[in-house]
Amino acid sequence: AELAPPYIRAIAPYQPGKPISELERELGITGIVKLASNENPLGCSPKAVAAMHEAIKTIALYPDGNGFELKDALVQRYGVAHNQVVLGNGSNDMLELAARAFLTVGDKAVYSAHAFAVYPLAVQEVGATGVSVPAVDFGHDLKAMLKAAVENKAKLVFIANPNNPTGTFLSPADLLEFLRALPPQILVVLDEAYNEYLPEECRYDSVAWLKEFPNLIVSRTFSKAYGLAGLRVGYAFGNAQVVDMMNRVRQPFNVNSIAQAAAVAALADEDFVRKTNELNRRGMVQVTEGLAKLGLEYIPSFGNFVAFRIGGATARYRRLLELGVIVRPISNYDMPDWLRVSIGLETENEKFLSALKQALGEQE
Ligand code: PMP
Repeated sequence: AELAPPYIRAIAPYQPGKPISELERELGITGIVKLASNENPLGCSPKAVAAMHEAIKTIALYPDGNGFELKDALVQRYGVAHNQVVLGNGSNDMLELAARAFLTVGDKAVYSAHAFAVYPLAVQEVGATGVSVPAVDFGHDLKAMLKAAVENKAKLVFIANPNNPTGTFLSPADLLEFLRALPPQILVVLDEAYNEYLPEECRYDSVAWLKEFPNLIVSRTFSKAYGLAGLRVGYAFGNAQVVDMMNRVRQPFNVNSIAQAAAVAALADEDFVRKTNELNRRGMVQVTEGLAKLGLEYIPSFGNFVAFRIGGATARYRRLLELGVIVRPISNYDMPDWLRVSIGLETENEKFLSALKQALGEQE
C-alpha cells in the first residue's frame, strides 16, 4: 500500500450494494426484493433487448471507438454537434473523465454535502481536493457553493439535479443564476442521471444552455429510466473544446458494442420511458403515503427513490434484509439516521411497506 501515493491511500472505497444472489446465500432465504440501487423495475425496452441480440453477431469485432451511431442518435435528439458528445462506461465514467481532464494534484473541486458519492472519489483519485459545502434542507445551497468555488479558486463544481440520495431538485432559474454568477474559468458538471424522471412541469433544457455557458458539462445515463444499468452507458454534452479534453483521457473502447446498440434502441423507445415514468409516479405516491402512515419523515423526491428518517437505521436495514427487502443505508452520505428506498413495482413497494411496518412494530 505504501507504493500508492498518499491521496490514493486516503480514499474510502465506494461500497456498492450486494447482489440479490449473494444476500440470499448469506441469509439462507429466497425471493428477496432489491430496492437499493435505483434500478428500473420494468427492466429495459424490448427493442433494446432485440438490438443486443443483433449486436452479439459482431461481438468478435472491436466496438466503434467513436460511438458514431449512438452519438448520432443523441445529436438528432438533442440538437448538438457530434463533437459536443462524450460517451462513457456509465455516467460514473463521465464524472471521472471530467476530473481526469481538468483536475490535477492540489486543485480543488466543489460539491454539496449529501451529494453523489462518486464526486469525492473522482476528485481524490487525481490528487485534487474536494470541498463539501453544507446543504440546505438536504438540497444544494447554490449561493454557498458559488462562494466556496470562488474563494477556493476551484476548477470544477459538481451539481446533481435531481440529487442522489436525497432526491432534491434545483429549479432551472436557480441553476441559471448560479451559472451566470460563476467565473467562466470554473467548470460545472451538471449530473442529470435522473433527468428523465422529472415531472412535466419541472422539465428544463440544460443542453440549450451550452450555447451560453462553454464551461458547462451536462451528464446523463442509460442506467436509470432506460433500464440499462448492467450495460454501463452514459454520455455528456459540452463545448467542443471541453469534450475534446475529456476524449483525450477516455479509454479508446470504453463503451462496448452491445451497450452502444442497446442504447440507440433504448433512446428511440419513448413509449418505454413514458411507462417507466407513470409507474414511478404511482409508486412514489404509494411509498410516500405508506411512509407517512407509519409516521416516518421523508424527503420529497424528484427521482425514482426516496430517503426516509428512521431510528437505528443500520439495525432496521438488517431487519428489512431478513424480511426479504434490500434498501440502501446512506450513512456514508452523512445521513446515519436515514435509509433510501428505490421505487419498485406495486407488489415490491407493498412488500417493502409491510416489512417496514413489521420491523417498526418489533421496535416497541
Ligand atoms: N449520478 C448520480 C446522481 C447517480 O445516482 C448515479 C447512479 N447511482 C450515477 C451518476 C452513475 O450512474 P451510472 O454510472 O450507472 O450512469
